[in-house]
Amino acid sequence: MFTRWQRTIFATLIIYATSFEQPVVIEAANASGVDLRNDEYEYQYAQKWPSLNRSLGSVSAVSFDPRGNVVIFHRGSHVWNERSFNEENRYLPIIDGPIPESTVLTINNGSGVLLDEWGSNFFYMPHGLTIDKDNNYWLTDVALHQIFKFDLRISTTKPVLTLGRRFEPGNDIHSFCKPTSIAVLENGDFFVADGYCNGRVMKFSSSGQPILQWGKNSFYITRRYSLPSGIVPENFFAIPHSLTYAADRDLLCVADREQGRVQCFHAGNGTFHSMYSNPKVGSRLFSVKYIPKDGGLLYVINGPQFTFPQQPINGYILSMTTNRIVGRFYPSTPQEAFSNPHELAVSVDGVNIYVAELSPTMVHKFTRKNAAGGEATDPTVIQQTAMSSNVESVVVSQSLYAGTLTTVSFVVSLIGISLLIICVSRVICFKSPARRQRFSTHSENISLRNLNQAGEEAQEEV
Ligand code: ZN
Repeated sequence: MFTRWQRTIFATLIIYATSFEQPVVIEAANASGVDLRNDEYEYQYAQKWPSLNRSLGSVSAVSFDPRGNVVIFHRGSHVWNERSFNEENRYLPIIDGPIPESTVLTINNGSGVLLDEWGSNFFYMPHGLTIDKDNNYWLTDVALHQIFKFDLRISTTKPVLTLGRRFEPGNDIHSFCKPTSIAVLENGDFFVADGYCNGRVMKFSSSGQPILQWGKNSFYITRRYSLPSGIVPENFFAIPHSLTYAADRDLLCVADREQGRVQCFHAGNGTFHSMYSNPKVGSRLFSVKYIPKDGGLLYVINGPQFTFPQQPINGYILSMTTNRIVGRFYPSTPQEAFSNPHELAVSVDGVNIYVAELSPTMVHKFTRKNAAGGEATDPTVIQQTAMSSNVESVVVSQSLYAGTLTTVSFVVSLIGISLLIICVSRVICFKSPARRQRFSTHSENISLRNLNQAGEEAQEEV
């Protein structure tokens, strides 16, 4: 029935297809793959954080409040699945009511202890959380198709600002369709990423008056027209999924989720500025957060991919000035490996990173290894920090060392010391050139495409 060539092709396709169903393989590569991390951007994973006496729902967002506490937004008993929305993006199980549990939890950054909670019986399908410098909470709900601003000094049950029409998806200037994220400027003006269906970014005044919008929808499920072949141009979004504001550059950067890239725009008028992507990140990029460190860093997180080759699910640090990946962060054990990371938060100094996971429902915490002080590149300091955080490791190491001293002969010790001297000599002699070579490999360069430097053809509608 089939020729030999056809059978060969089918066999190849089967092998190819099944490779998409091996998440364990991805995690193995995650643990043993090439380490891209720069000494100055190495992070230690905090296991068993936070310490809560309850189970979380899908954690859709994480942010910092002005005091440095960590705030998470989770979905409690509600799950976004194929029965949640119809083809018109209307939320279906309205009759089941809002989430009865507290959806907003404030957690101590260090101890992981719960400090505060609110947000019960209000939200249906939480998505984005942003906390501005004045401690206003900005939240989005993809089921309600609305965004909310809460001033906790006034109320945790009645928002001081609500935009969008309740349970009504739309694409006019007063409606949203599954809005995902909010970024707030110093003067109180704010941006909304809108969202899963409309593929646009909208800017509003602090009082909620629309100022401008831009972007076209290129998400293949919800767009209404065909795109030309080739790279999708700037200003097209396949789910603008997360926003971050780079205040020192006055840029709004958008995680263009299904196109695996970050697009940055001038915050004043929405015109295109630059775009960032990298083969290591892959075809899906869920979140981006900016900090003004070392000339500007973009912390991004990818996710499960449907394209080949699949990249490990990791957090990456992109330098906006050198156009390279300068760091990577991921859980240290396969049991806690990233699965469906959704949003991240980075402290302004870059010391702490938090990642919200949809499934399994959890929050990951990372701390920069050199955060305890001393020279950033001093390996001794990093080693001490790592060991002091794990008492069990220290005890095991010390006992092994003592046992070795009592059993190894004097002659073997001499040989060992000689080898050590040789190794130290090689490190001292060749350390610097080797390191420069390691971080200048072609694979770590990200493609910065200033596709719109001359024309700046971004669409603006007031
Ligand atoms: Zn999402």
